[in-house]
Amino acid sequence: MSADLLAVPAARRAAIASLAPHLVPGRRVALSTHLNADGDGCGSETALARMLTAQGLTPRIVNPTPWPEMFDFLLGDDVDDQTARGSKALRDVDLLIVLDISDVKRLGVLTEAVRALTVPKLVIDHHIDSDEPAGPIVVADTSACATAELVYDVAAVLGWPLNAAMARSLYTGMLTDTGGFRFSNTTPRCLAVAAQLLACGVDPEDMYTRIYASAPAGRVRLMADVLGTLQVDESVGLSWLSMGPDALDRHNVRAEDLDGIVEHARSIAGTRMALFFRDLGHGKVKVSFRSTGRTDVNAFARQFGGGGHAKAAGALITGSLGEVRDRVVDAARTLLAAQE
Ligand code: 5GP
Ligand code: MN
Repeated sequence: MSADLLAVPAARRAAIASLAPHLVPGRRVALSTHLNADGDGCGSETALARMLTAQGLTPRIVNPTPWPEMFDFLLGDDVDDQTARGSKALRDVDLLIVLDISDVKRLGVLTEAVRALTVPKLVIDHHIDSDEPAGPIVVADTSACATAELVYDVAAVLGWPLNAAMARSLYTGMLTDTGGFRFSNTTPRCLAVAAQLLACGVDPEDMYTRIYASAPAGRVRLMADVLGTLQVDESVGLSWLSMGPDALDRHNVRAEDLDGIVEHARSIAGTRMALFFRDLGHGKVKVSFRSTGRTDVNAFARQFGGGGHAKAAGALITGSLGEVRDRVVDAARTLLAAQE
């Protein structure tokens, strides 16, 4: 049973095989993920970095935003994070591998440098296709619960061994992208791979404690503020939360501490779409979209230049908090009303 579940789907296997010729010992490889890296981005990067090192390549992490402190436990002396050098760290590499991104713009300040890069660019991702991927060579599979599942498959297909550190990284990606193995992407295969990772030595309680029970007090205080902004339109099943530009500083917390806040809006009975508006303070608002039913928030977010998955998407929208919220809430009401 579990052997069947672990079989790598044929298309995925073929895509992974096409990466292999690029993974030549001695090559210097930059690994990059989206701005404000999450557990899947950080987990996929650190797992792949250690795998590539074990295969004789020289990987470095080059991200558009600093490594989130809450995922420091995934780093170590054997992982080289050159994010602080910015796009200079992309100049002297032989290969770029972009993880957990379908749209090159999610590389933030690195976007232009990546567009201009002439070395081969590989993408490993589980989002819905965008108009401009970060590179032409893509292992893209939306049926994977997390990019970490695809990195697990890279190792499986190429016959690379997994050690406990790699397994912890992959488990982090799968645990966080499935909301603690609760969302609809918690497939039988996801759990079968997670079982393999436990068998490699991952301690699930230790992972839970590090990821979900090591928050600074400010995170809970910030949450209290944000939850106080809750608005609910029961007539269409829409719930939304908002946050001003100074809230993070006021509570001395970081963007990574916002992960999961939108789930509180989604948890309300009757809610079909939940939104979280975060004023970035420079004329842009980050919007998180979540769906509980058949509403496709990827398609909805695309109307605003964003994207993601059918049930979880995001967009960066220009305008004041009030303007963006009015526009998006109006459009969401119209969409939900039409679906009734
Ligand atoms: P979150 O709301 O947690 O930031 O993101 C939810 C999902 O939407 C994630 O899979 C994320 O990669 C994607 N996403 C978030 N922000 C953006 C964005 O600005 N553009 C696109 N294309 N996807 C996004
Ligand atoms: Mn992901």
